[in-house]
Amino acid sequence: MSGHPFKTRFAPSPTGLLHLGNIRTALFNWLLARRHGGVFLLRLEDTDAMRGHEKYAVALQEDLRWLGLNWDEGPGVGGAHGPYAQSERGGIYKEYFEHLERQGLAYPCFCTEHELAIERKVAIAAHRPPRYSGKCRGLTPDAVRARLAKGEPATLRFRIPGARKVGFDDKVRGPQVFDTADIGDFVIRRSDGTPAFFFCNAVDDALMGVTLVVRGEDHLTNTPRQILLLEALGLPLPEYAHIALVVGQDGAPLSKRTGSKSVEELRAAGYLPTALNNYLARLGHTYESNALMDSETLAAGFVVEKLHKAPARFDESLLRHWQAEAVKHATAEELWQWMSSRSRVGELVPPAMALDFVHTVRENVTFPADAHNWAQSLFGPPQQFAPEAKALIRATGSDFFGYARQMLEREPGEFKSYGRALSEVSGAKGKSLYMPLRAALTGETHGPEMDRLWKLLGRERIKQRLDSAFELCQS
Ligand code: GLU
Repeated sequence: MSGHPFKTRFAPSPTGLLHLGNIRTALFNWLLARRHGGVFLLRLEDTDAMRGHEKYAVALQEDLRWLGLNWDEGPGVGGAHGPYAQSERGGIYKEYFEHLERQGLAYPCFCTEHELAIERKVAIAAHRPPRYSGKCRGLTPDAVRARLAKGEPATLRFRIPGARKVGFDDKVRGPQVFDTADIGDFVIRRSDGTPAFFFCNAVDDALMGVTLVVRGEDHLTNTPRQILLLEALGLPLPEYAHIALVVGQDGAPLSKRTGSKSVEELRAAGYLPTALNNYLARLGHTYESNALMDSETLAAGFVVEKLHKAPARFDESLLRHWQAEAVKHATAEELWQWMSSRSRVGELVPPAMALDFVHTVRENVTFPADAHNWAQSLFGPPQQFAPEAKALIRATGSDFFGYARQMLEREPGEFKSYGRALSEVSGAKGKSLYMPLRAALTGETHGPEMDRLWKLLGRERIKQRLDSAFELCQS
């Protein structure tokens, strides 16, 4: 619609910590807003009096900011369509409830949970869709008044218009048509007065000027209801894109219950935002390029039409691949900050050597815990050898390490010249020269390049480590 900027939104219910599936939805909305030079809005769907929802509302905003998914409108940022928490919009909803009631488009329903449950069971047993029977639809105004006056709890139901089709063109799933005959009158206000999801979610999208709703396909069948509601209220309809869900290796939708990690846990484990963004933007969406991209580049290439219809399968090894890529592309300063805030490398590596340490180990590090292990091997006590390293040192024997110590006195300079000199006196060449040295210096049989390690460790540490290896051979 002209005059309306392209606007997407993320509308989480703060009932728990965000996990990968949630932030993928947030990311897709963010990417589309950026791609189209539009607005990304955040709305908190906190209408239930849920325990702990403030804590989760704070946590989810922290997660989004950490990922760089900043919102242009919403909590803490403001905008022309606030408030942005549904718990603060009661007055707005009230007007729309009244409007619907006045028009006869909504009616109070006195059916109890128990009655409704029985009705659903009967319908299912008779192979009918378990929709509301319409029992309270025809109550006379007098009957309604009398029951309300008695204090009988009532929900408010939206009156589904008689047989007609509701259609929309889903941006991912294509044309969709539903029959109103299959949709029962649904609750838009609970008996405690709080608005139901169908209602406030749709009303807010319209009032907040959202033009494209990108959400999980579990909401697909909610959409015809919401369209009918918006039509009844004379409010504008957004476009919809229902994205395929993320499933685990077992094919079940990813959720906390099935072991999907929260963003908070991933952050604590040291995943980098760029890694998550690159992984998630490709989870059910195709880019031409397999290169690591920054968020703006991811946005430039993000196209709704390229979203897959089939469920996206979560693959931890791919996420780790993007993590390794993100580490590869980060600056040494960023990596030091990252590893030292999430592990104890700062206590092990002398401050003046921090960046040299990063340069030396970065190709062998995917998580802060890896960096910590290297810091421990290189700057911790020298006598800690991994089992393979221990076996190799013993098999090499004390003669070799005796020469290695002597050569250190004579050739303390570059690793190359040291290696040559040691080869001459010990007779060891190639692998049989470098591997025992590596095992002695790092306690490992694999790892960073030797000449870098040599420089980083410095003569004193090298000497201590060769002594330890020598002693190990003699013990
Ligand atoms: N609060 C809803 C949810 O978390 C929002 C659904 C939607 O995006 O419309 O599922």
